[in-house]
Amino acid sequence: MAEENQAKASASADAAPQSASGPGGSSGPGPGPRGPARGAGGPGGRGKFFRRKKVCKFCTDRIDAIPYRDVRLLQQFVAERGKIVPRRLSGVCTTHQRRLTRAIKQARNIALLPFATRH
Ligand SMILES: [Zn+2]
Repeated sequence: MAEENQAKASASADAAPQSASGPGGSSGPGPGPRGPARGAGGPGGRGKFFRRKKVCKFCTDRIDAIPYRDVRLLQQFVAERGKIVPRRLSGVCTTHQRRLTRAIKQARNIALLPFATRH
């Protein structure tokens, strides 16, 4: 881990008078294909019942067994102090939250994740 201290005082008069953004800009006058970027493949438009944006990540990714060795994955559900993020915040469904908790605890036991950060 390299600590970069950006303590440079940029008080020197380096400010160039020319701004990089020209008057034309990158928006060309040509016929840009400004169609709907999102691929809506469903036949229906909006869903009748609207859920929250937070959908269980594991359900969407179809992850059945949560790998406890995947620290990067688990760290998304662990707060800074080492706490497991509650389901309401993470949006994980109950089933996966349980598995996730197990995975995190397993990861803790093999010292992949901290139990709690000292403070
Ligand atoms: Zn789920």
